Amino acid sequence: MENHGANVDPVELSKFSSLADHWWDRGGALKALHDINPLRLSYILAHAGVNGKRVLDVGCGGGILAEALAEKGAVVTGIDMSGAALAAAKQHSVQFGRRVEYRQLTAESLATQAPASFEVVVCMELLEHVPSPPRIVRACRELVRPGGHIFFATLNRNPKSFLFAIIGAEYLLRLVSKGTHSYTKFVTPRELKQWGRTSGLTFESATGMHYNPLMRRYSLGGNVHVNYLMCFKRPTAPR
Ligand code: SAH
Repeated sequence: MENHGANVDPVELSKFSSLADHWWDRGGALKALHDINPLRLSYILAHAGVNGKRVLDVGCGGGILAEALAEKGAVVTGIDMSGAALAAAKQHSVQFGRRVEYRQLTAESLATQAPASFEVVVCMELLEHVPSPPRIVRACRELVRPGGHIFFATLNRNPKSFLFAIIGAEYLLRLVSKGTHSYTKFVTPRELKQWGRTSGLTFESATGMHYNPLMRRYSLGGNVHVNYLMCFKRPTAPR
C-alpha cells in the first residue's frame, strides 16, 4: 500500500526505542547486529573505499555500523527516527571518542535538504521495517552522489527465510527477540533490484549472509535465500 505521509511505522519505532539500553550490549537483545557487523563492513569495504569519504547510515540505530565506518576514516552521518536509539548512539560515540553526526530525520526529508551529498550510503536492516521500502531506495539514490555506492541489507521472503529468520532465529535459537520481524515485510532480491533500477541505480552485486548454529558463526557468500546484502552504484552520467 502506498503511504503518502512520513514513511515511518510507529509500532516498529517503539520496538527499537524500547531496546535503547541494549544497543551496545554485545551479548544482549541486539547481539546479532554486533555479530554480523564485521561482515557488513568487509562487504562495504570490498566495493567502496570509505576513508575520508562522506558516508550516510540510514536507520543507524545505536550506531553499530556507523561507528565501525568512522573507525575506518569515514566522515559519518547517522539518521534514525527513534530518538531513544539516537540518544544511545550519541552517548556511546562520545564515550568512545568516535565522531559521528547523528540526526533524527527520515531519508526522504534529508534527500530534499541535502541531495547528492554522500559518496556512500548504507541502509542495513531497515527496508523490512518501513511502510514503503521503495521510497527508501529512491531517497538513498537522491542522497548519494553520481558515481557513489549504496548498500542494503535485508531479509528475503520465501518459505526457507520464514523458517530460518522467524522460526529459527526468533523462536529456536533466540538470536533476535520474538516479534522483531514480520515475514510479509521481507524483501526479495528481485524486488530490491527492481526498485534500484526504477530509481536509476545500477546493480553491482549481492551476497548471502549465513548463520551456522553449530559453530555459532556468521559468514558471507553463497545463496541469498535468507539474509543478504546488495550493492548498487549511482551512474556518473545523468540518466
Ligand atoms: N542499521 C542499524 C539498525 C537496524 S534496526 C544496524 O543494522 O545496526 C532498524 C533501525 O531503523 C532502528 O533503529 C529503527 O529505529 C530505525 N527506523 C525504523 N523506521 C525508520 C525510518 N522510517 N527512518 C529511519 N529509521 C528508521
